[in-house]
Amino acid sequence: MTESKLILDGARVAQAIKDELAGRVHKLSERGVTPCLATILVGDDPASETYVRMKGNACRRLGIASRKVELGAETTTEELLAVIRGLNEDPTVHGILLQHPVPNHIDERAAFEAIDLAKDVDGVTTLGFAQNAFGFAAYPSCTPAAIVAILDHYRIPIEGKHAVVVGRSPILGKPVSLMLLNRNATVTICHSKTRDLDRVVGTGDLVVAAVGKPKFIQGGWIKEGAVVLDAGYNPGNVGDVDYEACLARASAITPVPAGVGPVTIATLLKHTVEAAERRV
Ligand code: NAP
Repeated sequence: MTESKLILDGARVAQAIKDELAGRVHKLSERGVTPCLATILVGDDPASETYVRMKGNACRRLGIASRKVELGAETTTEELLAVIRGLNEDPTVHGILLQHPVPNHIDERAAFEAIDLAKDVDGVTTLGFAQNAFGFAAYPSCTPAAIVAILDHYRIPIEGKHAVVVGRSPILGKPVSLMLLNRNATVTICHSKTRDLDRVVGTGDLVVAAVGKPKFIQGGWIKEGAVVLDAGYNPGNVGDVDYEACLARASAITPVPAGVGPVTIATLLKHTVEAAERRV
């Protein structure tokens, strides 16, 4: 590792976001409003339980209320929809987060669509996604927004850069691609059928890894001086890029853990506070 490598510190970016939010939460409390995030966990996936717990703890530390709804693995789509509708109608709930993934027998898309757009703080509804594509979403998906926030925090230019995004999921690869496009990057979106992936990744000034496979992006694929953003979070705290090898070529890189993850949570808090502010 040389001196010129920039480690993009997600904890620091997250803290800057939370510092800015603290005053806003205080102002809301003076008006008798406590921002409230409802999290819905269906089933007993240990990783999902951890994510939901982390989000609840982060809320508490900032004075945001969190309402945890835990449903059994046997919950039907109809039952889940009824829970979401109840939260939609509850004026004390400002944001709703349905933890992905839900058990296979549930229609996850129908459940996401049931979330009121005004409470869709994780940008999972079709309308929220479409608004993000047009560049005016109130709440873009949190992980894509976190990636852009990291670039902005470190004043890394996006405009005119070639961004290569590996992954095209509706919550991550696609929305981050559109956000970078809206910021005037030239964007290439890769997926499991992309040919010569190593060569394509090698053309990226910005490389976003959103694959869900540990250490998938190889150091040798990275263009010298590229900026690498690793959204991956695999068991054992391992990202989607081979960190040490990519660090050797990159000018800047997010580590895992303490990269994109904490900024994603801070973004969720920010969206929840904004949703509460819109209601007063
Ligand atoms: P996903 O829905 O499984 O999507 C994975 C994407 O990777 C798909 O588009 C898939 O292509 C593509 N892919 C799979 N194998 C590939 C290959 N061999 N070559 C090129 N592309 C390939 O995953 P996700 O929900 O987007 O999550 C991706 C990663 O981000 C995971 O590690 C997840 O844990 C992490 N994540 C982190 C946060 C955070 O807060 N840090 C939040 C959400 C997700 P096809 O479309 O062709 O199948």
